[in-house]
Amino acid sequence: MSGLRERFETAFMPNYGVPPVALARGEGCRVWDADGREYLDLIAGIAVSSLGHGHRAIVAAVSSQVATLAHTSNLFVNEPEVLLAERLLGLLGGDGRVFLTNSGTEANECALKLAIKYGKANGRSYIVAAENGFHGRSMGALSLTGKAAIREPFGPFGVNVRFVPYGDADALKAAVDEHCAAVFMEPTLGEAGVVPPPDGYFAAVREVCDATGALFVADEIQSAIGRTGTWFAFQHENARPDVITLAKGLGGGLPIGVCIAFGPHGTLFAKGDHGSTFGGNPVSAAAALAVLTTIDQDGLLANAAAVGDTLAEGLRAIDHPLLGRERGRGLWRAAVLTGPHAPAVEAAARDAGFLINAVAPDALRIAPPLILTAEEARSFTAAFTAILDAAGTES
Ligand SMILES: *Cc1c(COP(=O)(O)O)cnc(C)c1O
Repeated sequence: MSGLRERFETAFMPNYGVPPVALARGEGCRVWDADGREYLDLIAGIAVSSLGHGHRAIVAAVSSQVATLAHTSNLFVNEPEVLLAERLLGLLGGDGRVFLTNSGTEANECALKLAIKYGKANGRSYIVAAENGFHGRSMGALSLTGKAAIREPFGPFGVNVRFVPYGDADALKAAVDEHCAAVFMEPTLGEAGVVPPPDGYFAAVREVCDATGALFVADEIQSAIGRTGTWFAFQHENARPDVITLAKGLGGGLPIGVCIAFGPHGTLFAKGDHGSTFGGNPVSAAAALAVLTTIDQDGLLANAAAVGDTLAEGLRAIDHPLLGRERGRGLWRAAVLTGPHAPAVEAAARDAGFLINAVAPDALRIAPPLILTAEEARSFTAAFTAILDAAGTES
């Protein structure tokens, strides 16, 4: 592996461990490692590379923008950031206001600061979030993250957060009163293993927030921009949030995050309340515009829904002692195993030329580029029985 992994291990902090493969290049849904081995990329850099690799629309937009003007800071306006904000508001409808960031966790920091400001103005002192939810690694977003193993070592945070079991509308109702500033919720738990809530849960979150006046903050950082077959996952239940955060798939591989607040919440911040040097970067904004245009022009919402169904049907047709069921929607799926075999199956899939992610001990996340074809999806499900066999003999 040209020693890259060993050099990584020496040069980097040990928080990630050493990744198993060094990737060198990509094209469409395929990537090649540093030794020239080819893989079908079914994880897309954690649901980020929405148009796959080397997509000409992104290459053209980024190349042209970086050669024209790479950075302005928030001291100056640039056209791509304005076009992007307007485009996102157009997709969402209604009267929203946008704040641009460089990552998901920063988008949630913005949402959290909005919630805290809203709470202070209205005598609302706590926030509700979900057990096992994930909202990011910076201190504010981490305080909302329900995975105790990654949150607790770094607390306390100075944010009063109450955690409720995800998907339980009654528990939510019991936890939220008129002293609650905001409810932060993913439409499906991503990092916990692509775990959808029962039908109607997001609509129930909307109802509870309407009844109590708490802000409904939808963390759509992983779920939006076509991942589930609609622009935004909340559209499946028409449960419009007050604040939405986006990141991952929006930039198609370039770093970007967004916080959008609707109605009166869009103007909660006063001048000086928040900021970012890189947020609104024109290169990232140009990439995001190319992603949105391509999804629209190439019918990738419909593709994500249809190829996602193909993938799910293929998984459901497999009868294997290691495989339980599949869950998820669109091109955001998990293959749920009958035991904690996900790391072994991930490794066996890699040996067979497929990149998938052991997101939980018993769950494999499949979140490919939205351009994945039905044929590519079938090539994976056709190989999956042998992959499970290989993992079974290892583990
Ligand atoms: C990935 C993710 C984040 C954090 O995004 P980063 O860009 O890694 O900071 C937050 N919320 C959800 C739902 C995510 O999937």
